[in-house]
Amino acid sequence: MNAPCTTPAVAHESGQREVFCGLTSIVWLHRKIRDAFFLVVGSRTCAHLIQSAAGVMIFAEPRFATAILEERDLAGIADIDDELDRVVARLLERRPDIKLLFLVGSCPSEVIKIDLKRAAARQSRRHAPSVRILSYSGSGIETTFTQGEDACLAAIVADAPAEPAKTEPNLLVVGALAEVVEDQFARLFSELGIGKVRFLPMRTAAEVPPFGSQSRFLLAQPFLGDAARALEERGARRIAAPYPLGAEGTTAWLKAAADAFGVSADKFAAVTAPGRARARQAVARYHDRLAGKRVFFFPDSQLEIPLARFLARELDMIPCEIGTPYLHRGLLAEELKDLPPGVRIVEGQDVDAQLERCRAERPDLTVCGLGLANPLEAEGLTTKWSIELLFSPIQGYEQAGDLAELFARPLNRRERLEAQPCN
Ligand code: SF4
Repeated sequence: MNAPCTTPAVAHESGQREVFCGLTSIVWLHRKIRDAFFLVVGSRTCAHLIQSAAGVMIFAEPRFATAILEERDLAGIADIDDELDRVVARLLERRPDIKLLFLVGSCPSEVIKIDLKRAAARQSRRHAPSVRILSYSGSGIETTFTQGEDACLAAIVADAPAEPAKTEPNLLVVGALAEVVEDQFARLFSELGIGKVRFLPMRTAAEVPPFGSQSRFLLAQPFLGDAARALEERGARRIAAPYPLGAEGTTAWLKAAADAFGVSADKFAAVTAPGRARARQAVARYHDRLAGKRVFFFPDSQLEIPLARFLARELDMIPCEIGTPYLHRGLLAEELKDLPPGVRIVEGQDVDAQLERCRAERPDLTVCGLGLANPLEAEGLTTKWSIELLFSPIQGYEQAGDLAELFARPLNRRERLEAQPCN
């Protein structure tokens, strides 16, 4: 029983996908950049998605909305441009607190026809300097839900000021992190003596950092291919590292930055030892619960590979399939080499074929999107919603135990359910 799955190989699949679109990332991005506003240019479907994804948060003054393009807007592009300009002007008049406005594109054909980049530039000139207006696509045709963050950050980078001459070498941490995690990392970098550290996304529009050849950047999330490319185009250089999940991942991530900034091995060991010990201890509490359990990842958040590495190496779980919507080999090189040999990695998705493999494997835990979780639970499989891993603080030493617990919880819940007598 529970023998490791041995099917080797990396497969590529295409077919029906079951992943949220990039609009979903607005749910965490609007909380991150406090004076930004996300105006989705879309349909009623987009409005419903955003409202139900963020529905738990009812604000008097929300920081996202949908400009719904009705059928009548199809009459002509000029009308659509005028309509969009009117909506933006009305919004900015009513909400002078908005300092950064994103026009977010979506799938409907009438939206695809609009040149949102040009609309953003036109409106930026009109409303300068009190507000910057940028655009990106959150369309489900082009993006999965974490790619929405990637597209948003790439738009910020493209618009950021140039680094002034004689800038000191500086570190940029890229990828939305919970503020508590950001603060912990900022403290660790400061103790390591890495002076100037900035985070992207920033907390306010005014904090958009300048980028240039003195910037070294460290990705905190693995799904930021476009943002990384945009930074490299500005002259910034990426520090290759795994991702800060678990005691080991966090140490290797910090070490990559420490090496890039010439921090001595002794200093690194002294600064990180207490956090490392706390993280190891916290993860160890879940080891017996999770060791030997087989886990199957459907492609969803693009966090699958770093998560599988953490679960395999620090908790002795057995990944039997790691699905990922897109495999960026360059950004994941440091992770791929630490996966168990022979593990099956599947890039892309053909949901029916994957469901069949999952049913055949009967894994102990299936990590998947919301749409697949309920049917699989009904078939007796234990599931974990991958989107939860984007909403929860999971990076860094202090969160390593919580990350392990997120995988133990569904197993505990299933056991409790099975222990209940049938009526
Ligand atoms: Fe809107 Fe397209 Fe996302 Fe549907 S998939 S909510 S139409 S952007």
